Amino acid sequence: MTEAPPPLRGYARLRDPRLNKGTAFTEAERRAYGLEGLLPPAVTNIELQVARRHAEIANLDDDLQKYLVLTDLQARNETLFYAVLMSDPATYMPLVYTPTVGEACQKFAHIYREARGMYLPITARGRIRDVLGNWPQRDVRFIVVTDGERILGLGDLGAGGMGIPIGKLALYTACAGVPPQYCLPVVLDVGTNNAALLDDPLYLGLRQNRVRGAEYMEFVDEFVDAVQALYPKCCIQWEDFANHNAIPILARYRDKVCTFNDDIQGTAAVALAGILAAERITGMKITDQRLLFLGGGSAGTGIAELISQAMAREGMDIAEARRRNALFDINGLIVSSRTDLADFQKPFALDRPPVAHFVEAIKALRPTAIIGVSAVPKLFTHEVVAAMAEINRRPIIFPYSNPTSRSECSAEEAYRWSDGRAIFASGSPFPPVEIGGRHFVPGQGNNVYIFPAVGMAVFATEAARVTEDMFVVAARAVAEQVSDTDLATGLIYPPQSRILEASLYVAERVAACIFDQGLARVKRPADIAELIRARAYRPVYPE
Ligand code: NAD
Repeated sequence: MTEAPPPLRGYARLRDPRLNKGTAFTEAERRAYGLEGLLPPAVTNIELQVARRHAEIANLDDDLQKYLVLTDLQARNETLFYAVLMSDPATYMPLVYTPTVGEACQKFAHIYREARGMYLPITARGRIRDVLGNWPQRDVRFIVVTDGERILGLGDLGAGGMGIPIGKLALYTACAGVPPQYCLPVVLDVGTNNAALLDDPLYLGLRQNRVRGAEYMEFVDEFVDAVQALYPKCCIQWEDFANHNAIPILARYRDKVCTFNDDIQGTAAVALAGILAAERITGMKITDQRLLFLGGGSAGTGIAELISQAMAREGMDIAEARRRNALFDINGLIVSSRTDLADFQKPFALDRPPVAHFVEAIKALRPTAIIGVSAVPKLFTHEVVAAMAEINRRPIIFPYSNPTSRSECSAEEAYRWSDGRAIFASGSPFPPVEIGGRHFVPGQGNNVYIFPAVGMAVFATEAARVTEDMFVVAARAVAEQVSDTDLATGLIYPPQSRILEASLYVAERVAACIFDQGLARVKRPADIAELIRARAYRPVYPE
């Protein structure tokens, strides 16, 4: 039998972020671990420590500075970091993730501090398993990986993209309780085509242009094989890959390993959740809806497919369901006579004459909902919203393009131009709106309602695969979490302040789906909610 290593003492204990309690070490612990004299004498509790950090951060007026304070805290005292995040998720989520993380990725090389996560350069091909084996944890259950090519709406940021897996994994923990010790952020560094980065002497990634084609795919294969060999229970979440890689990568692995792409599947599920919550306002069933998407790229086709699947689950023929999810892209309505369609757009092509203007498409198709995923601002004009309001008593208007500056319309425009009848949700947040004495609270279709909960369910059940059904179930569970009071103000997503409770409920429902589909690698418990709660991380100091 191997003996347990002696407990860390003195500075070694203070410098271990998982063991460090800072000023919350009790007097007995200070004596036991040789910490006396290394800390100021007063002993504080974690609530006071949270209040101290909260005041420090609130006093800063620059979000990147706030991000850095939180980053340093994560490196120093992980429990306190999560206690701070979980004490006020609505405030801290935008600091550890979008929008602040975007600036952090852009300036990554200039603000670099502590090592966190794994960098796998394509120059290490043939040795990826060895390199990945340098990660200190033996049991990794969740990897978020990017190749840095399409970071948020900011483009190719090369190795600077590491901020994304780090921030996203922090949300898996803070929003749904996935324990941080099982999480691993990864960058696949295949170079960058960003000339400014290549010219920057401080740039920290491989100084070469991006590798493409077969060599790229062989590298991704080697990474997936290494993960399977080292961490057989691990789920791989692909994040912020460019479309030309994201779609083929997901198709290549989704039936072989436990994996998903949040940009495609998480986005689709959160949009579906919005449509399902809107049902509770309009009284219309999902199979009564007709959707028209402005934008036919990865977000548009991903959402259209999941909504089609949800319609099919209600008994509708899948081809008919896809016809109810029409796409309109830069070249007009997607119809079968067009010769410029990508394979992933073809299932949605309508057998009807071309339509060049979006308003004309609204008049011709009479949609119940329009979803903007074009990344072009202001395309939901007064005329567009008015046309929707003329056809529908409660038109569903979802400008999903990010960031705020790209939104197809603002919340105020949607409410004003529809005489307050629009059911509105956007990709980026908008503040509440007062119109004619009425108070509207616009919802944000933020993937954070979906991916942490799916991650928690996968973790607790040790799921072998991630399926589309799991996202439909997650969307339905999110919609169920919206209260009648929220709906009365127009809010069709749960308030972000309740994200942990909402996510644990969603995780329970997704876990039930995983058991039903025979994909769990643990025994089905009598009480699935209890399984989720028992496995969920809480920011409490270790004894
Ligand atoms: P993409 O580049 O794959 O697709 C963009 C689509 O818009 C293309 O089909 C293009 O033809 C179309 N388009 C461009 N200009 C147009 C115009 N003037 N008129 C009509 N169509 C036009 O991009 P994507 O990855 O699908 O992302 C699109 C947007 O969706 C981005 O702004 C992104 O931030 C947003 N998005 C939001 C969420 C979310 O809120 N949860 C998630 C993912 C993506």
